[in-house]
Amino acid sequence: MTAPSADIAPWKGDAQFVYSMTYDEATIDALVNAYPIHQEQGVPGHVCAVSGYLGTQRPERGTSMREVFHMSAEQLRFLVARGWTVSSHSHSHPSTNQVGIDLDLEVRVSKHELEKALGSPVRLVTYWNDLALVDQILPRAKEAGYLGILSIGYPFNEPDFDVWGIARATIGRDLEGWFQEPLQSLYHHTRDALPGHLTREQTRGKWLVDLTHIVADRLPKACPESLWNRCSTPGIIDARLREVRELWGDRLWAAVPEDVVDYALTRRASEVATEQVAPDRVVCTVRVGSPPAGVRKRELTFRAKLPWPQAKVDGGRVPSAQIDGRLVWTAEVRDGARFELTP
Ligand SMILES: [Zn+2]
Repeated sequence: MTAPSADIAPWKGDAQFVYSMTYDEATIDALVNAYPIHQEQGVPGHVCAVSGYLGTQRPERGTSMREVFHMSAEQLRFLVARGWTVSSHSHSHPSTNQVGIDLDLEVRVSKHELEKALGSPVRLVTYWNDLALVDQILPRAKEAGYLGILSIGYPFNEPDFDVWGIARATIGRDLEGWFQEPLQSLYHHTRDALPGHLTREQTRGKWLVDLTHIVADRLPKACPESLWNRCSTPGIIDARLREVRELWGDRLWAAVPEDVVDYALTRRASEVATEQVAPDRVVCTVRVGSPPAGVRKRELTFRAKLPWPQAKVDGGRVPSAQIDGRLVWTAEVRDGARFELTP
């Protein structure tokens, strides 16, 4: 018999695939058109809000983003109360090639403004426009107390992903045609995501964060038309969430990005040791170091290889399951936490 051993799963619930959906700009259509689809599919959503625009109409012209309405504080709180999360997408969404941008306002103040409006912490910041100011935004984001940054660009995130550069793939309308366009857009990555294109091989062990903007069947005509690709329709969102659900069933962890970051940072600060204290008793002891202060949920999923097919955790008080021949359980942890495994 091999000695019992335990480890910490790369993702919560020992998920095989992790999925998040994000809506840049936090316009009202994400609430009206996308939120009901998320509810139906049991997938929480995330909006990237521009703190200076809450409850106002977009001042922009010429893009598919023109004249849309941003969600109000009350509408954002409605979503937060239902498990959605909100990141800062700057305060005024200035063009990144503009001179004299007040990055303190766009990064630090934006966080406080949103927190005031929501009554809850804002822990991620989202790059806006493009990646031109990464070097200046990154140190400010760390200083302001964010936990990480939602970036742009395919591919999938691995379990050891960089919290300061979480990759997001654009999904949207007319993406197929857009691939053929000779023009290189800032949102045109080596390969962006299309509904119906995910495979188990591709996604196994990975975290995909999708990104889109407006979700509406009819949009004001975009100029240039390639900007349409940054927007979706309810049909696209519905197809995407169904695809993700069908691909992995109960091995999917559909989560807001903050929960995935919490899990990863707690896991990286922790280790588990196994000791067989009696023939029918194994004790797992968890060491939790110091995850960053902004981490809220300190939850981990453990996997133990044991000789007992019906093993229990703490006499059955901690729910567990047998997955791929291992005993798997998820629990909130603190330093020194112990779990007793018995037949
Ligand atoms: Zn934006």
